[in-house]
Amino acid sequence: MSSSAARVVVVGSFNVDHVWHSPALPRPGETLQGEYRSGPGGKGFNQVVAAARAGAQTAFVCALGDDAGGALARQLADTDGIDLQDLRSGSPTGTAGIYVDDDGRNCIVIGAGANADLSADFVSARAGAIGGARIVLAQLESPVESVLEAMRLARAAGVRTLLNPAPANAECPRELLAVADVVTPNETEFTTLLSRHAHEEVDADSLVALDDARLHRLCRTLLPRGTVVVTLGAAGCFVSHREDKTRGDARDHYRVAAERVEPIDTTGAGDAFNGALAASMARDAEAPFQAHVRYATRYAALSTEREGAAAAMPAQGDMERRFA
Ligand code: ATP
Repeated sequence: MSSSAARVVVVGSFNVDHVWHSPALPRPGETLQGEYRSGPGGKGFNQVVAAARAGAQTAFVCALGDDAGGALARQLADTDGIDLQDLRSGSPTGTAGIYVDDDGRNCIVIGAGANADLSADFVSARAGAIGGARIVLAQLESPVESVLEAMRLARAAGVRTLLNPAPANAECPRELLAVADVVTPNETEFTTLLSRHAHEEVDADSLVALDDARLHRLCRTLLPRGTVVVTLGAAGCFVSHREDKTRGDARDHYRVAAERVEPIDTTGAGDAFNGALAASMARDAEAPFQAHVRYATRYAALSTEREGAAAAMPAQGDMERRFA
């Protein structure tokens, strides 16, 4: 597949996740016994795999080390038909050390490694792939200037931009929000952005209980022109559009309930949601936005019924069988 044929271009991170399950999380100085597994991860990679399995032609702009992690990324991208546009870094491929306890709580340390080397120049040299896409999707596990470059190139070419402002502690300047058509924070990311950019202090745990008119006002404060989708875990999501630009949706704000499933592992549900949203938007630019959100909601729910992050992303056939 040529890069200009890609319909969803994801700019982001790849990590090798090292996951330890133990009854409790380790405390300082403590040594525990647990079960270990490793697998592919990184928000960028999880999202591009979701977009690919949801049926989009995809390209992934990332930075990898010249090591076993990089080789894994290349092999997996090939399996999912992802057009890998990787900067070969002298740093090791990104890694994440993840501890999970029996209650599903986790502690994570990320070694950005090669991800930190994804340069704006490298992104700039991918202007052809970005300009030929329908959707450009990025997160904040890559250098912010590179993400900004990707979004600006997309905007200049008339390509729609989707920003997942995760993780919450990453830098997310106003100028980046300003070039996003759609922003998809979870509760923590949304309240962090509100505090930083709008001086609005809202408790992330109480967000789901806020009335819709207040939530809509908060979304408009953060992103006056674009669409905001606040994901609320098992409570679904809240969508807020600019009043005069609802792309066929009857209302400018609404909630979409989550699908009722029996989750085994919700890790990467947000990534599944973002990848599927991008794939759906790329597939049918004229459909009402709510239809894309409903598709992403179903896709993310299905991903929680499987263990892992990238590995848990459902294929189109799985979606058709489950939601026929
Ligand atoms: P993560 O960091 O685990 O990837 P996130 O915090 O970015 O997730 P969430 O808001 O937890 O994202 O989830 C994204 C979407 O996934 C939700 O809007 C919802 O549609 C779906 N989802 C998440 N958890 C569940 C669940 N338990 N049951 C059904 N759907 C879920």
